[in-house]
Amino acid sequence: MVIFMNSLTSKVLVVSHCLLNKSVRWWQEGKPLERNIGLANNVIEYALRHNIGLIQMPCPEFTFCGNPRPSRRKDEYEVLPGFKEHCERLARTFAKQIKMLVTMSKNPRIHIIAVIGVKRSPSCAVRTAISMRNGLLYQNEKGIFIEFLEKELNVYGQTTLPFLEFDFDNPGELTEILEKIV
Ligand code: SF4
Repeated sequence: MVIFMNSLTSKVLVVSHCLLNKSVRWWQEGKPLERNIGLANNVIEYALRHNIGLIQMPCPEFTFCGNPRPSRRKDEYEVLPGFKEHCERLARTFAKQIKMLVTMSKNPRIHIIAVIGVKRSPSCAVRTAISMRNGLLYQNEKGIFIEFLEKELNVYGQTTLPFLEFDFDNPGELTEILEKIV
């Protein structure tokens, strides 16, 4: 048996796909192209500054609908045939990957700081998602993919991972929070 006396730690963040590749974001004719090219600079700068690795989650909407795709709210995605099952499959596979990374890394040990979703996304929001049940509302609920991911991570005992979210309209907000917890 190999025993690591002074095991080292490598910190990583698990991030939504579009934070590293904005081209999968919902594309709308007439919007500036900057919305759909490149990556979320704040997250990368933060990771570089603190020597933190990044793990990219799959994009549930792009892999199901491609681009351009219709604009949909969470309640509309919920009734789109096959979409919930698609999210569940992606979440199950991704949670296994996370479990593998955590359990196979003895030295350096991989420490996942947080899972970062995207504010207001019907699939990847962490605390708020748009619903039309009573008009246009920001509800205190997770996006469809993140709900499944949390469930699947719980199966592997990853119950204490913080879930945070990036706001493309307020990119500095997340890094302020991260500076406090890392
Ligand atoms: S928020 Fe999620 S579903 Fe939307 S573009 Fe980003 S990764 Fe894809």
